[in-house]
Amino acid sequence: MVRDNNPNLINFTFIFSNKRTSNLGVLLLFYPIIFTMNQLQLIVNQIFTDSFNEKPMIVRSPGRVNLIGEHTDYNGGFVLPAATDKSAYLAISPSVTNTGKWVSVDMGETVEINFDEIKFYQNHRWINYILGVVQQFENRGMKIPPFNCVLAGDVPIGSGMSSSAAMESAVGFALNEMNGFGLNKKQLAQLVQQAENEFIGVKCGIMDMFASIHGKENNVIRLDCETLEYQYFPLNLGDYKIVLFDSGVKHNLVESEYNLRRQQCEEGLTFFRKHFDESVKNLSQVPLSWLQSSKSQLDPIVYKRCQYVIEENQRILSACENLQAGNLKDFGIKMTATHEGLRNLYEVSCKELDFLVDAVWHESSVLGSRVMGGGFGGCTINLIKANAIDELFDRLSVSYKQNMGIKLKTYSVVTANGTELVICD
Ligand code: ADP
Ligand code: MG
Repeated sequence: MVRDNNPNLINFTFIFSNKRTSNLGVLLLFYPIIFTMNQLQLIVNQIFTDSFNEKPMIVRSPGRVNLIGEHTDYNGGFVLPAATDKSAYLAISPSVTNTGKWVSVDMGETVEINFDEIKFYQNHRWINYILGVVQQFENRGMKIPPFNCVLAGDVPIGSGMSSSAAMESAVGFALNEMNGFGLNKKQLAQLVQQAENEFIGVKCGIMDMFASIHGKENNVIRLDCETLEYQYFPLNLGDYKIVLFDSGVKHNLVESEYNLRRQQCEEGLTFFRKHFDESVKNLSQVPLSWLQSSKSQLDPIVYKRCQYVIEENQRILSACENLQAGNLKDFGIKMTATHEGLRNLYEVSCKELDFLVDAVWHESSVLGSRVMGGGFGGCTINLIKANAIDELFDRLSVSYKQNMGIKLKTYSVVTANGTELVICD
């Protein structure tokens, strides 16, 4: 078994030793046992029942990984995410008063919510991920009556698996079900994205919530970010597993460099519209031949950025053919090629991420390895033969500590279904 460094478990230890939890009752005594059984739904169910004396509705909503397709979303291209077993669990029920009590197991907090005013909570940030979704329903004319809820999760926070989208999607799905609003999955994903964009203020694309809501076990979702059309492709991993190595760094270049990349891509697109075809919708649709014939006219940096985006989009299409043919080996080679593109052309890697990729990609047990997410830190995603994972992690963590001075963390991930109701008897 891969050692799973779950920060939420550490959070729990904090709660457990903290007197604030006394209102959660005896149940927490058994929390670690239940936790290792990976049955967080039992936890939220029992805390809810103990606290509110009634049976809640329970929703599970997964985190996500992205196999290939980085920085393609805002260029109108494809992404290839899969929903994970690591999920947020939300127990919820209407409140009989005009306030609601919201409990975060992981943060060890219970907060009383006044539904008459939706305000940003600076000191209890997790609440905003629920309130932002409430606000989006109300903006659409769907009044949300007061509700109580209990939330727990095992999506590692801030590690690139999108714990925020898991939580927001759980809330969106639950409120839609509970109030019979009848929004479909695509509308829910859009609503949740808007909540994160507007209330949290993170200008993310739609991939995270779309993947959380639409996930399917043993499948990746090829999502066209321009049209939101999507298709499932089988991810039959056989003897292999998806393993994340957490670099433990997050360089503060992320936001400024992200904006700069967007600007450079925009510059490229404007050029192709002017010189080739005004109606081309986005950079991902530009043929490589247009780019190659424009080398002398384009700024060399803009050229590199465009080359990455166009190649990455093509790579996703052929990676999906590999999956359909059950050719995991070629799929893995494409993952590593993505890393090379992100490192050399898009220039969003960093020495820690390059170290983690360079140290493993040539190993016979590794099919592919690349940075996952926006770059400048976070995790690498790897396809590794199951029986080699422990030994590889041991070696890698020693050399990572020696060379980068950082303790390596790892998460193993299994694909899973998207947001769903779960039953607790
Ligand atoms: P990520 O990359 O994991 O999405 P973000 O910074 O976008 O990281 O979101 C993390 C925030 O989402 C946390 O700081 C917390 O406020 C909220 N959150 C995520 N999961 C949970 C959870 N299980 N319980 C409470 N809050 C959570
Ligand atoms: Mg997030």
